[in-house]
Amino acid sequence: MTVQQTLSELVAIDSVSSRSNSRIIEYLQHRCERAGFAVKRFSYNDGNEKINLLASIGDDHSYAELALVGHTDTVPYDPNWIEATTLTEKDGKLFGRGACDTKGFIAAALTAIDNVDLDRLKRPPALIFTADEEIGLLGAKYLAELNPIRVRYSIVGEPTSLQPIRAGKGYALAEVIVRGREAHSAYPALGSSAVFRAARLVSRLEGIAQEVQSETHDGFDPPFTTLNVGVINGGTAKNVIAGECRFTLEWRPIPTQNPTLVLDRLHAAIEEEKKSDRDFDCEIDFSRKDSGFETSSESPLVTFLEDTTKKKAGSVAFGTEGAQMARLGSEAVVLGPGDIRHAHRTGEFVPIDDLNRCVEILTKAVDHFCC
Ligand SMILES: [Zn+2]
Repeated sequence: MTVQQTLSELVAIDSVSSRSNSRIIEYLQHRCERAGFAVKRFSYNDGNEKINLLASIGDDHSYAELALVGHTDTVPYDPNWIEATTLTEKDGKLFGRGACDTKGFIAAALTAIDNVDLDRLKRPPALIFTADEEIGLLGAKYLAELNPIRVRYSIVGEPTSLQPIRAGKGYALAEVIVRGREAHSAYPALGSSAVFRAARLVSRLEGIAQEVQSETHDGFDPPFTTLNVGVINGGTAKNVIAGECRFTLEWRPIPTQNPTLVLDRLHAAIEEEKKSDRDFDCEIDFSRKDSGFETSSESPLVTFLEDTTKKKAGSVAFGTEGAQMARLGSEAVVLGPGDIRHAHRTGEFVPIDDLNRCVEILTKAVDHFCC
């Protein structure tokens, strides 16, 4: 079966994160078993059954020399995109939801393992297929927590136009709820404004954003941790002193920095506020604290992929499963066909050349590290 046929079958299985990924896992399990791999499922339930699939080989299923890792879920698609689940070829490109992010990589990985002569293997490869990457790397986190396998090297599929990515920033998210006391706006002394309090805190956060720029990491653009207050909501009417104001705070820490540093600074800022406003009332709901990852530029996986792709390894400022693979003991590199800028939109596509090239790269990688 060609990589294009495989991709077509993968795209035909709707695996938007809001549904169970059991159908695509069923397909992947069948393909892995047919290639001579033994599979294990690691499931959880978020209202739908979500499955991570680990396909391994050899006597000891608790170790892999090289893992190829792909997430099975996709972002939702516009119902007006009638060909979203029908892989469509045009001008050397293959269109369909997930074609780029990240079913193209999965199709290439399945094709690569079909190319490998299992009798030649000296060290075991593995395939890892995860759930819920698009909604917070949930499947990979679940798997990392269970720690079912130690992995020496891993290639994590994401659209990077086949550039090896050896470092990624982390991701942290909190909702900050600032409370005040409602009153008629004609009598401000009777209340205290949650909006004014939140504004003071946001202003301090702008200062924190400046402070954290002093710690830099050359591999990134921009080379420091970034902060964003993306949403703010407060108050109920123009003539009511606001009783509550909420805002989101997101930050992307460089991998050398503790992801909770910004949170620690925010707590310190709240303490400062309390000195001049004793009733300052604020709650922080911290929902994400994903670490970044960094694999040494001297890692054999990095140098192998740089040589094979003729591209220098880089970094990304968005979250990937590289950090979870590092928790499994792995030196991780993110790489895949297609461009991230063509993902997550109607008309998502992967270039056919990239797809074929990815099969070659992954086949060579298995050959190099496992034979
Ligand atoms: Zn992805």
